[in-house]
Amino acid sequence: MSSQVSDIAMSVAGAIDEDRLWANLMAMAEIGARSDGGVNRQALTREDGDARALLIGWARERGYDVSVDAAANLFIQRRGREAGQPVLIGSHMDSQPAGGRFDGIYGVLAAFETLVALDAASLETRHPVEVVAWTNEEGGRFACGCTGSIAWSGLQPVEDFLGEVGADGVILADALAETLAATPDVPKRSLGGGAIAYIEPHIEQGPVLEAGGLQIAAVTSIQGLRWYRVDIAGSAGHAGTTPMQGREDAFQAALRSVQALNTLMDDPADTVRFTVGRINVEPNSPNTIPSSASFTIDFRHPDADVLADLGGRVERCVVEAAAPCGVTVTETSTMAPAMFPEPVVAQIEASAGALGFGVTRLPSGAFHDALFASKACPSGMIFIPCRGGLSHHPDEYATPFDCAAGARVLAATVAELAGAAPR
Ligand SMILES: [Zn+2]
Repeated sequence: MSSQVSDIAMSVAGAIDEDRLWANLMAMAEIGARSDGGVNRQALTREDGDARALLIGWARERGYDVSVDAAANLFIQRRGREAGQPVLIGSHMDSQPAGGRFDGIYGVLAAFETLVALDAASLETRHPVEVVAWTNEEGGRFACGCTGSIAWSGLQPVEDFLGEVGADGVILADALAETLAATPDVPKRSLGGGAIAYIEPHIEQGPVLEAGGLQIAAVTSIQGLRWYRVDIAGSAGHAGTTPMQGREDAFQAALRSVQALNTLMDDPADTVRFTVGRINVEPNSPNTIPSSASFTIDFRHPDADVLADLGGRVERCVVEAAAPCGVTVTETSTMAPAMFPEPVVAQIEASAGALGFGVTRLPSGAFHDALFASKACPSGMIFIPCRGGLSHHPDEYATPFDCAAGARVLAATVAELAGAAPR
């Protein structure tokens, strides 16, 4: 793989039709449309099924092969000269309950537009090019998000998720069976199988591209995280009669701990993400010295070494700051970052540059299916700007031009990765 951008790649990018892509986006936004302009199309609901049916219909009109796996991941393949592993492109179709019109579905439809552009440019590819719509990325209905991509990547069997109870009381196994039963004529395929590469276009869900007047980010990584719960043991007492000297006030100890952590996590480059999002105090009475306090830490960073180093210093930092109160620090979750391979990032960057778009490199602060797919094949992501950085919100918006820009960069990148050539 080189970071050259051939005339053929430029011709596929040029065949992306901004109006058609926008029309498809707006047609999908009608499925689960909310009165406030947003979308409620949660995983494995009837609305999700309707969106799948619409996409399957578009795929069949154009003669692509449709298939589905046991996790209800939906695949649309444009065949290559050779059979075998595809270049996989796409994202997810499910939304948050009060979601927007672009998160996820944009990546699926930009990927679909890439197949159509290959047709329009009268090109064949050496490898198949395949659109994927992953199941239950959001985790809004079934809290185990990214179910489809985790199962496809072989990180966990789909059986692990079947007992999950949705926010509406429905069991995931039942919703999955219903979704699969709704399209009995779609051929089943086995889970996994890998890919030559996986590329996911997505709205940035942050403010950087818009603020910089840029169209494209070549995503370098998805940051990892470490979550902790800190339990501080103090000693209760009467707020009026107990002298200040010698108190073991658990809340004051928690405050000192958070201040010390703020110092530990201070990062002039503003790459560290450090959040104390929940705090509890017992007995939570206005005139009693708190006997215990607990708080959570959400710490994220794209660099595994920084996660290990700063994360490894959390416990001692808190123990020292909270003295004389006793402290227990429990790590409740950890996720290693995904570093996307340099050749993929460079290809995306080169494609954007050759097409004349303003491009930068960015790490992703949020999870995406690409985090899990990257465990199974070389992966990458293309971000486009979204207005105000807003996402998971009915007002989420990306311009038709920027939507097409991301699809053009995807199309050019795919042309290189899949070996496009004149028919
Ligand atoms: Zn998303």
